[in-house]
Amino acid sequence: MAESENDLISRTIRFLNQQKEMYGDFSVTHEEALATKTQNHKKENNEVKVVSEVHKQEEVSTTESQKHESVSKETEVAAKAQNHENIEGKAVEESSVSVEEVKTEYQTEEVEPELTEAELIAQCSTLEELKALCKKAETLKTDLEGTNLVFGVGNPNADLMIIGEAPGFNEDKQGEPFVGEAGQLLDKIMAAINFKRDDIYIANILKHRPPENRDPKVEERANSLPYLLKQIELVDPKLILCVGRVSGTTLLDKDDSLKNMRSKFHEFNGRELMVTYHPAALLRNKQWKRPTWEDVQKLRERYDELGGRP
Ligand code: URA
Repeated sequence: MAESENDLISRTIRFLNQQKEMYGDFSVTHEEALATKTQNHKKENNEVKVVSEVHKQEEVSTTESQKHESVSKETEVAAKAQNHENIEGKAVEESSVSVEEVKTEYQTEEVEPELTEAELIAQCSTLEELKALCKKAETLKTDLEGTNLVFGVGNPNADLMIIGEAPGFNEDKQGEPFVGEAGQLLDKIMAAINFKRDDIYIANILKHRPPENRDPKVEERANSLPYLLKQIELVDPKLILCVGRVSGTTLLDKDDSLKNMRSKFHEFNGRELMVTYHPAALLRNKQWKRPTWEDVQKLRERYDELGGRP
């Protein structure tokens, strides 16, 4: 039976739809297809471009970030360096400050270093300085409390220096040697050989009164001696007269009797030294007045020979 025209048309349409489903729409013209392709290509290109832009941007941003990173690193390094410098600077500063502090502390100790007694004595260049030092010296004190310093008195440039034993009651009260009864006798003896009290310089082995006028102890003498030696050096006399055994044995540094030591001149640190009886002993022992008289006559003679001030 012959197909009707309508059946044929229906079959053809079905076929074409099947083909379309399987292979796409062939109804578009070549131009349309080409245009679509170009558009697609452009789009692709654009996409590529965009991608590459993105990539570029990424690259840039990578570079930037790398730069940034490296800048950051540099900054970090610089900051670290700065910090380091700061730290070092601070350390230097701190160390210099602390050095300063140490210096200051040390200097304070250095400015006023703890000097020994001997160094303090050696530093004295005047009798006033030595007297001031004696005033502060606890080592010069005896076990009698509340005594005054009896430093010395007279002509600071005397060519004759008289050295007694230790201050007594009156000397302690007045702060001056030989002002009591023994002192008055000493003045008379000196006057007999034409010396006024002001011509000579008078001191004692001890600068403080011992209790009950007892003999100075060995230790007390040893403590006082450096001060007395300095005092002698500062007065710088041509002759020294020791009155009494204690004075003679202390300066001559030997244990001897007065009888043995008297009547002659001893060498003492480049000076001449004579020992005679103590005036207090003469008050009790009149027989020693004559030998004392002989001693001081010799003394005056030697004094004049040495060119002592008249
Ligand atoms: N006796 C001394 O030896 N010295 C004095 O100053 C007084 C008495």
